[in-house]
Amino acid sequence: MTKLFLACLSTETNTFSPLPTARSGYEAYCLHYGTATQAPANLMTESLHLWRAEAEALGWDIVESLTAIAEPAGLTTATTYRSFKNTILADIDAAGGADVVLLSLHGAMVAEGCEDCEGDLTAAIRARCPDAKIGVSLDLHCHLTDRLITAADAVITFKEYPHDDAIPRAAELWDIIRRAHLGEAAPHMALFDCRMISLCLTKEGAMADFVARLLAEEQAEGILSISLGHGFPWGMWPMWVRGCL
Ligand SMILES: [Zn+2]
Repeated sequence: MTKLFLACLSTETNTFSPLPTARSGYEAYCLHYGTATQAPANLMTESLHLWRAEAEALGWDIVESLTAIAEPAGLTTATTYRSFKNTILADIDAAGGADVVLLSLHGAMVAEGCEDCEGDLTAAIRARCPDAKIGVSLDLHCHLTDRLITAADAVITFKEYPHDDAIPRAAELWDIIRRAHLGEAAPHMALFDCRMISLCLTKEGAMADFVARLLAEEQAEGILSISLGHGFPWGMWPMWVRGCL
């Protein structure tokens, strides 16, 4: 039987903020140990609800791990990130691995000592599940890294800001990863760095046209999905600072 592993870890980190995000920041907003799909859905857990429902319909075995979401603030403390990461990895170990892994992550999470939490976590999961199909959904205000792209089979971001398309994006990722697991698709990702960071609303004007074009281009032969990572302007990494000097 196919075993699906679910987890969610999400916060949007302002690296200029002096206020650290500790465990209490996650407790204050959303913290569940394997029970997030029993609670009302929010922007980052809508995907978990959808993935669980789809997997249950196929009779898959489902292992639901941590869901930890904090409101945007400063760096997540090292002990908090380490605790969450270790919890997720311990759950995978306890389950004996997984065939399919679906992660709802933010994409702009920075912790003390870890500039790329999404890449770090996904790579650690890949190390434990070398043959699994791993899908990651992100907010479009994300830092897409080679480490994340290499570790996952498919990464999809929201297309809309304000974010009102979490469910269709989750459905899109589910479809790609399910087909990959069944051997019906072989996703291969390519990442192009536009070397731009901006905040772009997508509901009108040029960005609405751009999103419409993304959706149209996805109909082309061989294209499974196209995402635009807008970046998060208040998530400056030291490596970026060095690159600007
Ligand atoms: Zn966002």
